[in-house]
Order: sequence, then structure tokens, then C-alpha cells
Amino acid sequence: MSAKILVVEDEPVIALDIQRQLTQLGYTVVAIADCATLALEAVERWHPDLALMDIRLRGDQNGIETAALIRQHHEVPIVFLTAHADAATMQQVKAVYPYGYIVKPFEKHDLMTAIEVALNRYQAELVTQAALAKEKELNKLKSDFIAIVSHEFRNPLSAILLSLDLLQRHHSQLTFAKAQSLLQRARLAADRIKHLLQEVLTTATAEAGKLQCEPSPIDLVAFCHQLIAEFQLDHDLKNTPQTTIVLTHTKEPDERNSLIDLDENLLHHILTNLLSNAIKYSPHGGKVQFRVHHTLDAAIFQVQDCGIGIPERDLPHLFERFHRASNAKAIPGTGLGLAIVKQCVDLHGGTIDVQSILGVGTTFTVTIPITQNEDCLPSA
Ligand code: ATP
Ligand code: MG
Repeated sequence: MSAKILVVEDEPVIALDIQRQLTQLGYTVVAIADCATLALEAVERWHPDLALMDIRLRGDQNGIETAALIRQHHEVPIVFLTAHADAATMQQVKAVYPYGYIVKPFEKHDLMTAIEVALNRYQAELVTQAALAKEKELNKLKSDFIAIVSHEFRNPLSAILLSLDLLQRHHSQLTFAKAQSLLQRARLAADRIKHLLQEVLTTATAEAGKLQCEPSPIDLVAFCHQLIAEFQLDHDLKNTPQTTIVLTHTKEPDERNSLIDLDENLLHHILTNLLSNAIKYSPHGGKVQFRVHHTLDAAIFQVQDCGIGIPERDLPHLFERFHRASNAKAIPGTGLGLAIVKQCVDLHGGTIDVQSILGVGTTFTVTIPITQNEDCLPSA
């Protein structure tokens, strides 16, 4: 596609000549403007790839002032095209960071060289800017990580140290039940640290672009039962308020198969986070409904709890890293879980939706499109 050029020139005859030369060189002249106001309007309307700017213009503002105005609001590389080449003018031109300077009279190939150099330089700058922005984002992420994770590590580590200290110093006086409760406390804290490390690792893997979607046939029903068994075991070990996960599996009547192509690792991240949130944010226990439905085109997972719910103003930010709702601050967490869920759902080309009523409960629904693997279909 040919580059779109805006010509800012107050001499109509020269402007038309430049337009003719540019067209012959294969560029598209989107507009000719002879003053600052028209130049700004043209930039807003046509978003040119480059502006060729005369220094002397009609009206109060010259080309250098016009370039400065354009730079304030738009990213357009500007090449000056002028008969003025004295030191004072050059000094003023430099202040608006031009991408080139052509002195009249000029040859057609001078025009082309200056435009191509300017366009290339601008493209290179865009790449550098994008790399810098990414670098900045990563740096922010790193410092957020260090702040949150070190804060979140401190509490469970202190709990472990305190429990071990008590066991070491007072073991002869402690009852069996008391010793068990201290060990239990240390275990819960160690689990919390393990969970944190896993989250940090998964986030880092995703950030490095190494979290990938590699679907393979899995038995959805067996997978979900296994998941619930893991949670049950966790419960029994932790002796936390009893929450029951009730699994319901349905499929389209003509769908005989429970083997479907999904990425087991991503699905594990998605469902463990949703189920653990449902349990964690239901401080008085109760039932968590875990519904799985699959058709030929999609697998739908729904996790519904009767917990604390999510305030409406937090809903739009739920999948942002480190965001925690205002009513959840007393319950430990980093705010990384749902960001990981969202990344895994995206990698699978799916969608996630949340419905919540404060104090009543929350329902997360994940829909993942599936392509049926012929190998998975049972032989007739
Ligand atoms: P962790 O990183 O350990 O999972 P977290 O649970 O705080 O910490 P997310 O899982 O990302 O982080 O959840 C973000 C926030 O969304 C939570 O802090 C909580 O405020 C809210 N939230 C998520 N799921 C639920 C739920 N089922 N019920 C109520 N609030 C929830
Ligand atoms: Mg969570």
C-alpha cells in the first residue's frame, strides 16, 4: 500500500507540482493544506503517514509552529520542504524534531529519498517505542510481584516459624491435640506458599509466551471427578469448613462421547482457580455447584457458590492482575488467580462470564469451543 502524504504548502502552483511528483513516485497525496488550521484538520481526518511541510504558510502560524501543534496531538513524521536554510531557521526546525529537511529547489529522487528515510526511521522508532513500553510493563509487573508476593509470603512464613518454634520449645508440655493443631497451621501456611509459587511461575510462563494451548483428547467426566477428589483431599487434610462440590454433567442428546480435545494443563488452571475461589469466598462452607455441559461445538463449565459475592464496582477489574475486591481483603490472596484463568481461557479461544450478587453468591461460566477429534469418536 502506498504511503499517504499530506502536503502543507501555501503556493498553489508549487503544491500541485509536489503533488504531481509524489503521485509519479507512487505515493498517495491525501490533502494539500496552505495554513496551520487546514493542516491540523487534514491530519485528524486522513491520518497521513507523513507530512511534507513548507516553512512559510498562509496565516499566523508558520510551518515550524504548525509542526509543533501537530506533534502535540498526533504521531506524524514531518519532513520540511523549504527555501529557508539559514542557521536560525535550522535551529527552530530542530526544536520540533523533524524527520527530514529538503531545500528547494529539489530533484524528484531527493524527495523520494527523504520520504523513504523518514518513513523508515519512524517505523524503527515505533518498534523501539513498543519494546520500551513492553519493558516498562514488565518492570512494573516485576516490582508489583515483589511487593505483593513478599507481603503474601511473610504471613505464612511467620506462621510456620511460630508453630515450629512452639513445637520445639514446648513439645513435652503440649497435648497431642495442641501439637496436631500447630502442625496443621504450619501445613496450611506451607500450602499457601506452594500455591503462591505456582501462581508466580504460571504468570511468568504466560508472560514469556510459553503457556500454550496443546489440546489432546481427555475424558471430561473423569477429569472433573479427579479434580473434585483433589479438593476433597485438601479439605480433609486442612480440616477447613466443609464445602461440598456438587458435579453435574450433561451433554447434548446426540453427543455420545465424553472424550474431547482440550488442553489439560490450561483446563486444570481454569477449574482449580474457579473452584478454589468458590470455596475460599464461601467462609461458612455450603454447596458449590459445578456444572459441566458439552456439545459438539463447546464445553461449558459453570461454578456457582453461595458465598460473599462481588461488589458491582469490582466486576470490571476482576481479571486484572492483583485486583482484589473490597470485601475480600480479610481473606488471603494475591489477585493473580483470575488473571491466570483469563489467560488460559483466551489461549483456548474461549470466553468467561461472571454474575454475582453481593452477599448472595457468584457464578462463573467458561465456554470453550472444541473441535471434535475423529479419533475420539467411539466406533459405531
Ligand atoms: P489468588 O491469587 O490466591 O487466587 P485471589 O483469590 O484474591 O488470590 P483471584 O482468584 O484473581 O485472586 O480473584 C480476584 C478477586 O476476585 C478476589 O480477591 C475476590 O475479591 C474476587 N473473587 C473471585 N472469585 C470470587 C468468588 N467466587 N466469590 C467472591 N469473590 C470472588
Ligand atoms: Mg483466587
